[in-house]
Amino acid sequence: MTATCNICGASDFGPGPGGRRSVTGDLPRCTSCGSLERHRAIRDTFERVTSCDCTDRNVLQFSPDPAVRKEWFGAHEVSVYEGENSLDLMAIDRPDGTYSIVIGNHVLEHVSDDRAAFREIFRVLKPDGFAFVSFPDPMRRSVTSDWGYPNWDDHGHFRKYGRDVIEKMGEELPAATILEYIAADPVTGVEDLVYFICKGGPITDQLLGVLPAGRVSIGSSPTEKVQ
Ligand SMILES: [Zn+2]
Repeated sequence: MTATCNICGASDFGPGPGGRRSVTGDLPRCTSCGSLERHRAIRDTFERVTSCDCTDRNVLQFSPDPAVRKEWFGAHEVSVYEGENSLDLMAIDRPDGTYSIVIGNHVLEHVSDDRAAFREIFRVLKPDGFAFVSFPDPMRRSVTSDWGYPNWDDHGHFRKYGRDVIEKMGEELPAATILEYIAADPVTGVEDLVYFICKGGPITDQLLGVLPAGRVSIGSSPTEKVQ
C-alpha cells in the first residue's frame, strides 16, 4: 500500500531536514507540500477534533502551520513572530475570554517564561474553550530540561520538554483539565504526544469521545490513564 500525505494527498516522500529519516526508518518529508511527521500527526488529530464541529469557534494560532486549515473554524487569527500582528505569548494583548480555541504547535520552547505563557493562553480562552499545544518530541524524554537562555545551536530553544510537561501545565493551571493524546503520522507511523488544555463546559467530554486514548490531568492532581 502506498502511503498518502493527509495534508495534500501526494504519495512521494523524501529525506527530512539534514537528510534524516524518521525514527521508523521511513522518508518523512512530503515532496509536494513539505509536511513532516508532526504536521501529519497533528492534521490527523484535528480531523478528529473538527468532527465536533468547530465552524462557530474562533481561533488564535501562534505561528503558521500546514497542519491546521482555517476553513475548519469560524474565524482564524494567526500570530506571526515579528510580523505586523505578532502577539507576545507571555503577555497576549487580548481581553480575557476572547477565543474558543488557541493553537500553539512548537512555540512554547521559544519563550523564556513558558509558565507565564501557559497562564496567558488559558486566560484568553472562553469559558468553554480549549487550547491545543505540542512540543518537539516530549515522548522521548521523561523530564523537561530548561537551561534558561535561547540555545542557537538548537533553533533558539530555551528547553527540551519531557513527558512531565503535563504535570508542569497542571501546576500552572489548577482550573484546567488537560488531556494528553498520542498522535500518529499516517505515513511513517511515528507517534507524538499532543495536549488539549480544556477550560470548562462540554468540550472535555466531546474531545474524549473523539480521541481514542490518553492521560488526563485535572489541576495539579496526579495524572490518570483513561481508556
Ligand atoms: Zn503533502
